[in-house]
Amino acid sequence: MADVSGSPQALLFDSTRGQDQGRSLGQAIARGLAADGGLFLPREIPCMDVQALPHDSFLSLSKAVLRPWVAGGEFALDIDGLLDDALSFPVPLVPLGHDTFICELFHGPTLSFKDFGARTMARMLGNRLRRTGERCVILVATSGDTGSAVADGFAGLEGIDVVLLYPDGGVSEVQERQLIVDRPGVHPFAVRGAFDDCQRLVKEAFRASSWADIPLSTANSINIGRLLPQMFYYWWSVLNVTRGLGLAAPTVCVPSGNLGNLTAGVLAHLSGMPVGGFVAAHNANDFFARFLQDARAEMGQTIPTVSNAMDVGAPSNFERLKALLSPSKMHSLIQAASVSDEATLAAMGRIHRETSYLADPHTAVGLEVVAGMRKTGSLDGPVVVMSTAHPAKFPDTCFQATGAHPQEPDQLQRLRSMPSNKVLIDADVEILEQQVRNRLGG
Ligand SMILES: *Cc1c(COP(=O)(O)O)cnc(C)c1O
Repeated sequence: MADVSGSPQALLFDSTRGQDQGRSLGQAIARGLAADGGLFLPREIPCMDVQALPHDSFLSLSKAVLRPWVAGGEFALDIDGLLDDALSFPVPLVPLGHDTFICELFHGPTLSFKDFGARTMARMLGNRLRRTGERCVILVATSGDTGSAVADGFAGLEGIDVVLLYPDGGVSEVQERQLIVDRPGVHPFAVRGAFDDCQRLVKEAFRASSWADIPLSTANSINIGRLLPQMFYYWWSVLNVTRGLGLAAPTVCVPSGNLGNLTAGVLAHLSGMPVGGFVAAHNANDFFARFLQDARAEMGQTIPTVSNAMDVGAPSNFERLKALLSPSKMHSLIQAASVSDEATLAAMGRIHRETSYLADPHTAVGLEVVAGMRKTGSLDGPVVVMSTAHPAKFPDTCFQATGAHPQEPDQLQRLRSMPSNKVLIDADVEILEQQVRNRLGG
């Protein structure tokens, strides 16, 4: 189409596998996975004018960061309002010692960093569906934080239903309460089985011809709509450390599982954000750390740990990282390490004793990796550790590690008085289909 207005051409999004090219951002968000099974990435990465970015408030910075990614496209006019609505919670940067900072990403409604991506993506998708008149059924298998963030983010949006599958008995009590509380348009199911059964049901539903009339989409971190909003807090913490405190560009440590959060940081960096480097912190599910040691490393079975939101044996966003970074660039930009559950719990206890900071088990993996790298000299200068979840989501682990009970934030207290409904189903795709059709009224 001729561009007579002088407005910028909208970015196009291509699949990592090369067979599904030239989608708009709205199309890429609505589809989730590319038609060839790959993941969407922007064809070109916008180049930010770093000096011109405001850092007076998280929201004004976020709007400026996202603007070039949506310019000339279907969200350009509405994006500021969508972000105002999605990101109405604080993002504190808490100093721990003189050169380590914790960027607390857990003050959203469901107390994990996934609120940033889920709430923003939900509003973008809702915005698109209102214009196109289409409907969408988001089908998600969850072992914890994704489900509640997606349920909260998408609840009550016109044209969108959410079907959540979680393993019965496989999530913490707090996490289950967050999943099954009554929300308009959200249909949670406890599946008799493990997380892998939930994932299998999702895959079967996407393939089954009998589901073809149900407009399925996904909202896990394969969706590019989840990743773009996660760039905001990288910029926010980096600008606060450099411009705000006058320190060198920090190294950013990211407690990682599916590598979506790390990929968002890398996208921010490739668009101009200065960093000292990235550190991917893993639990026993350490494929990426092994890969950086030896490119022949293979993905593994998922191993359960106390940082369960990072229990991913085969991280899907690895495909994006490989597409974004040459091998030498990946090695110069990113370090990775893994820590055991014992070391994680010991770190929680030590940090709490020494600083009275109560870190959740995921954040503790990051802090422990940083402590280890500082000791061996592979890391120096300012470091930002992304704190991915609130300790109150994991009260038993926190108590076991520190003897302290995390303070329960309002978001959790309110849940106690809200009605909820647990529906248990067998791990069978036909039973799921029946249930979904009943809920959708057709
Ligand atoms: C999802 C999650 C992670 C892992 O993030 P990825 O983007 O999958 O690497 C880490 N910590 C918490 C608390 C999470 O919920």
